[in-house]
Amino acid sequence: MSERFPEIDWYCDRCNAYLNVQPGFDDHHYIWECTECGHKNSISAANIYESEDDYRNHKR
Ligand SMILES: [Zn+2]
Repeated sequence: MSERFPEIDWYCDRCNAYLNVQPGFDDHHYIWECTECGHKNSISAANIYESEDDYRNHKR
């Protein structure tokens, strides 16, 4: 099964951990619970940003 979002790097919204390498991570999950802090991150196209600056701008 291929990834839904190839080449997308996922980071925890709370602790900024790199989610792609967490045990069991799979972008077919719609919600991924960060193994570092337990934050439930939404894994969807709406959460993909061009860059970190773009991400910050959306939060304001
Ligand atoms: Zn986290």
